[in-house]
Amino acid sequence: MSFLETDIKFLKGVGEKRAGLLGTEMEIRTFGDLLYTFPHRYVDTSRFYRIEEFSGEMPAVQVLGRFVGFVVEGEGARQRLKASFHDGSRFLEVTWFSKINYFKNAYKTGVPYILFGKPTYYNGWQMSHPEVSDYDATRPPQGFRGVYSIPDKMRKRGYSPKFLWELIRGLVQHPRFREINETLPSEIVEKLSLMSLQDALVNLHFPKSPDMLQKAKERMKFEELFYLQMHILRYARERGRKIRGFLFPKIGEYFNSFYKKHIPFELTGAQKRVLREIRDDMRTGRQMNRLLQGDVGSGKTMVAFMTMLMAADNGFQSSIMAPTEILANQHYETISQWGESVGLKVALLTGSTRAKARGVIHDQLLSGEIDILVGTHALIEDTVQFRNLGLTIIDEQHRFGVAQRAKMWKGGDTAPHVLVMTATPIPRTLAMTVYGDLDVSVIDELPPGRKPVQTYLKYGNCRMEVNALINRELRFGRQIYIVYPLVHENPKLELLSVETGAERIRGLFPGVKVCMVHGQLKQAEKDYQMEQFVSGAARILVATTVIEVGVNVPNASVMVIENAERFGLSQLHQLRGRVGRGADHSYCILMTKQNISGDTRKRLSIMTETTDGFLISEADMKMRGPGDMEGTQQSGLAFNLKVANLVTDGQILSVARHVAESVLNAHPELLKFSGNANEEYPGGKLQLSSSSLEIISVELRRRFAKTYDWSQIS
Ligand code: ADP
Ligand code: MG
Repeated sequence: MSFLETDIKFLKGVGEKRAGLLGTEMEIRTFGDLLYTFPHRYVDTSRFYRIEEFSGEMPAVQVLGRFVGFVVEGEGARQRLKASFHDGSRFLEVTWFSKINYFKNAYKTGVPYILFGKPTYYNGWQMSHPEVSDYDATRPPQGFRGVYSIPDKMRKRGYSPKFLWELIRGLVQHPRFREINETLPSEIVEKLSLMSLQDALVNLHFPKSPDMLQKAKERMKFEELFYLQMHILRYARERGRKIRGFLFPKIGEYFNSFYKKHIPFELTGAQKRVLREIRDDMRTGRQMNRLLQGDVGSGKTMVAFMTMLMAADNGFQSSIMAPTEILANQHYETISQWGESVGLKVALLTGSTRAKARGVIHDQLLSGEIDILVGTHALIEDTVQFRNLGLTIIDEQHRFGVAQRAKMWKGGDTAPHVLVMTATPIPRTLAMTVYGDLDVSVIDELPPGRKPVQTYLKYGNCRMEVNALINRELRFGRQIYIVYPLVHENPKLELLSVETGAERIRGLFPGVKVCMVHGQLKQAEKDYQMEQFVSGAARILVATTVIEVGVNVPNASVMVIENAERFGLSQLHQLRGRVGRGADHSYCILMTKQNISGDTRKRLSIMTETTDGFLISEADMKMRGPGDMEGTQQSGLAFNLKVANLVTDGQILSVARHVAESVLNAHPELLKFSGNANEEYPGGKLQLSSSSLEIISVELRRRFAKTYDWSQIS
């Protein structure tokens, strides 16, 4: 049994019972699991802070002073212990909510203690459940210290981060710690002067200096990103050679006549460029796997349609799949109209298509009578068969997982071309990584004449003002969206709901027709309500985020988002994209409760400062980490990045990519297929020893064994 694989129960200070707890609460089952549980942040314990220096943004800090008195307040479950702590500059109120008797007796007044905790301000500075230690004047403050997070359940049972810290110290000092094997080839460690794995592990837990901590982090980040790149590149290279695609050599009558006679507007430069990129893919004889990124309103639908025309010109059928029924309906309306203008037959297949109509569609797909099929999941979950499907388009891809993409075609040697469209804008360098298996095209230009949506951040007490704006826009004949985070009122959450919101709105704007859409309505009802708004019969739509994706009502000019603090930036951006689709002035009002934190306010202000989806998503990712983003989370790669951040570690990422490329250039045997390994790739060659190659194989298997076999998927 290797050191890292040793059962955690054998670690000094653990035993059966605690091992069970660590396993269920923290997924720590082996020595390795524990050793790779890193501090989530580091705090500066190199000095004591004075209370007068405190600020709300500070992480946990150390403060040196004396308790001046204790008092127990409240009754029963609400009982708490309060102490006043003085450091010579000011007073700090310390509160304990549990183990009150214990803490009351544990500390004395008038004796110096060191408190360690996060200061918060509420009628004075406060700290709850700080770590308290005796002050030893002979021991100077320590340097950096890792802070571990402990699940509430363990905390309640009296386990502190310090418990974890001590266990890990036991591991690092264990005689067998030095048996841990290096996980990177020595050639790479040397070339880049990386810290060794063992030293990095020690310093991540017990940094010897800020510098060493930095180097330790760099090493671990590099390792993660290097293997991620290896994984992605292997499949990308394999796919490039292996998967045959249909050849669409010609641009024909459908495309040309639509372009010359029926297209309702001039294409933007970006739309034209993307169409050329797609066209080039379709002439290679390889399967196209392209991601089309374009901000909301950038005109992806037209690109999708014209791509389908290319398929039709070469005698193939196409399908386009949308994440919601509402969106599928809308696509159907647009695409069937455009399609009919050139004599193509377009059909719609969704979950609510009746059995009889469904049967007809199935037949017509098999006979080839239908040229274009628009639909939802029904399109893949159903037993739909085409006569010759040549192209499949997935709109708003972040709602579809990999497994679904894999289902897009069954059987057949030649896979249809795939175009994935998303409005979740991801910076290009990142997209390469996240969607490493896809080629990326970007529509980075909006159709002319769009005015940016004016965006305001408003507290609940500005409702009068907001209502006045709504009234004015209604008088101009415009339509209004109002979005709520909840469907029903929930007494436990201080959030507004669609249901009570609709009541309120009807009261405020008598005589104005209000419709309501949320996910809990029956499909038919949802469609009916939506139709009311799309047709203009209803002037105000109150809804949850079901309207987020793609809905197009150009006459709408106001988007009010209630409890905006509850939404992610990318989601807010999507919602905002529902207005500003006509050429008029339009507005987005982000309503929040009064007492949002400084961070939240900063986050939301980004929305008022820019309408650039790329900037917004970048900011979003910097704050939340890319793993949180819908787009990246479901992009299909099982990222399990513990230390690296795809956004902020861009530089390490590009080094990792470069090294991975040169390793693969020198060692095509790392690819799964054999033969035909002569294709040239840029980036030079990095020759590795056979033991280093073994390390790479082991790591790739360990890290990615569970992920999909991408060559089978896209
Ligand atoms: P998205 O990229 O968000 O899916 P859509 O395809 O729904 O955007 O397009 C948004 C709106 O812009 C639609 O009403 C569409 O007809 C219009 N549009 C698209 N391309 C152009 C263009 N080149 N010029 C003018 N309007 C355009
Ligand atoms: Mg769209």
